[in-house]
Amino acid sequence: MNRRVAAPGRVNLIGEHTDYTGGLVMPMAIDRSTRITFHRGSDRVHLASVDEPGVVDLPLAPADPAAVQPSWGRYVAAVVAEMAPHDGLRGHVSTDIPIGAGLSSSAALEVATALALGFRGTAVELAQLCRRAEHRATGVPTGIMDQLVIAAGVRGHALMIDCHTLDYTPVPIPREAQIVVQFIAHRTLEGSPYTERVAQCAAAEAAIGPLRLATPELAAAIADPLVRSRAVHVTTENRRVLSFADALRAGDLTAAGALMVDSHRSLRDLYECSTPAMDAAVDELCATPGVYGARMTGGGFGGCVVALAEPGALTTGWVVSAVDGAHRA
Ligand code: ADP
Ligand code: MG
Repeated sequence: MNRRVAAPGRVNLIGEHTDYTGGLVMPMAIDRSTRITFHRGSDRVHLASVDEPGVVDLPLAPADPAAVQPSWGRYVAAVVAEMAPHDGLRGHVSTDIPIGAGLSSSAALEVATALALGFRGTAVELAQLCRRAEHRATGVPTGIMDQLVIAAGVRGHALMIDCHTLDYTPVPIPREAQIVVQFIAHRTLEGSPYTERVAQCAAAEAAIGPLRLATPELAAAIADPLVRSRAVHVTTENRRVLSFADALRAGDLTAAGALMVDSHRSLRDLYECSTPAMDAAVDELCATPGVYGARMTGGGFGGCVVALAEPGALTTGWVVSAVDGAHRA
């Protein structure tokens, strides 16, 4: 009998490059998803994809997930290796999340694969397993944000996630707000300066202790100018997430939009992970009547920008709404 699982993509509203130092983030799961239709019972994992070439055919204990071909099979193999399931599956994957655009189609694939393989546990446990799988598949030391919001999203809400405790709090998105995503350029975090940023945050923590506990004033006293800039971004961004949650709860979209713009400037100038095309898109969005604010979203160096706007203010881009997390369908 055919079974189905679905895992949404995500967009981060604010709290960028804070997850891997245990800070605060505020993403939402979006109404685009990756689905796997399958049946269980074989002693292999056999998956085709509507969206990517090749067929993935794996034993239940794949030896080296990062080396699997076709390359999208790395994500599947890493989840299989983490789960060590008793039996396999045969089926196919399809998605309407744009792939490689920064809306986390990779994490959606991981979470959908884990559910299809019969994962049992909490959303946090599911996210932790899939995060380990992403590391195993790509070698990029990404944070927990993507997998957790994909596992635990709540319809109509963004999730404020404390990436240290892994506590998450749904924050209602005001009905009169529209969230619009514009795709700017394909990117991959493999080979990007993402890993270098993670190392710079570790250098900041060696100087002043955990960034999640540090004030912007403490960060501003770091001697090395580059490490200082990165740390000032992270410490101010954590505060912006709290202020953004307050603004959403108060229905103050003007304040929420201004915080998004502040976040973008900090990512552009201090964290240096934006691009000229993303900066231009944010400027254009912010100059559009009815737009409260906009920023780059995701790891940067390409990907998407996200805007908070009055309904109908923007005619280009994807209007996204907040949906529940991954589920068996
Ligand atoms: P993002 O997660 O932002 O979309 P990534 O580069 O992290 O971008 O992940 C994209 C990769 O995930 C693809 O190159 C592919 O290997 C894999 N992937 C995502 N969705 C699918 C799918 N539906 N079928 C096959 N592979 C997929
Ligand atoms: Mg990804």
